[in-house]
Amino acid sequence: MLFIVSTPIGNLEDISQRALDTLRAVDAILCEDTRRSLILLQRYGIEKSLHPYHKFLEKAQLQKILSALREGKNLALISDAGTPCINDPGQILVSACIEEGIEISAIPGPCSLIQALVLSGFDTTRFQFLGFLPKKGKKPLQEALGYPGTTIAFESPQRLVHTLEAIGPNRRVAIAREMTKTFEEVRRGMAPDLAKHFKQHPPKGEVVLIIEEGPLPDDLELDELIAMLRKWHGLSLKEAIKLAAKCKQIPKRLVYRKTTRGPDEHTERDSI
Ligand code: SAM
Repeated sequence: MLFIVSTPIGNLEDISQRALDTLRAVDAILCEDTRRSLILLQRYGIEKSLHPYHKFLEKAQLQKILSALREGKNLALISDAGTPCINDPGQILVSACIEEGIEISAIPGPCSLIQALVLSGFDTTRFQFLGFLPKKGKKPLQEALGYPGTTIAFESPQRLVHTLEAIGPNRRVAIAREMTKTFEEVRRGMAPDLAKHFKQHPPKGEVVLIIEEGPLPDDLELDELIAMLRKWHGLSLKEAIKLAAKCKQIPKRLVYRKTTRGPDEHTERDSI
């Protein structure tokens, strides 16, 4: 049987009794970085064989792990911090186990994106998680801003200011940094204000970015706006054109004309 065990995201006290019992009981533990996991195991006096299972080994080790599980071995999967499979290795193994009818169980515990969402104070009823934002290009972020709910993303401290600036002026954001650790900080505010703050006080450590639902970015091209309205709000082309015309405060017929023409026919004057 495979146990997917969540481990602390900073504070080593944040581990459940059931997680510790499971780590003690299994035949072996699969982990990302053996040195890092050893710190946790030593803290709780757990002596168990640790086997590296990081993103470069995920596929290569799959058959070996599956055959151990088929033989009846009990294995635990942990990551460096938080919940395995969430931007950490595990999903390939879990889906292979499901396909092969191998029993799995998840032992719940810390997960930074959920912790950050809770701390943000933003709507928790509908949210999307983007993982790490791509290093290049504004498009994924711009598109995400059309989502009708809260958006959560991982971001590196070095890129935080740049991302906050790209979010634009009209969004409330929360930054959850170093959660559960000594220098835990949660800062909430409008994106430009937070950008200014973090420019003056460069952030260190691990960061989760939470963006509250809000108005669409002002600088979207007409085509982008229509695509976004269709994607996130499930509107027909006709409905999206009507709404886009209202947002951009231009006559509907003009929007029709622009969107039904091929891209080559667009002129400089066309960009809205
Ligand atoms: N599986 C992990 C989880 O469940 O939280 C996430 C792993 S992902 C590779 C690492 C990212 O999670 C970090 O770059 C940061 O964005 C976020 N993170 C993890 N621990 C954190 C913490 N204590 N405070 C803030 N962000 C954290």
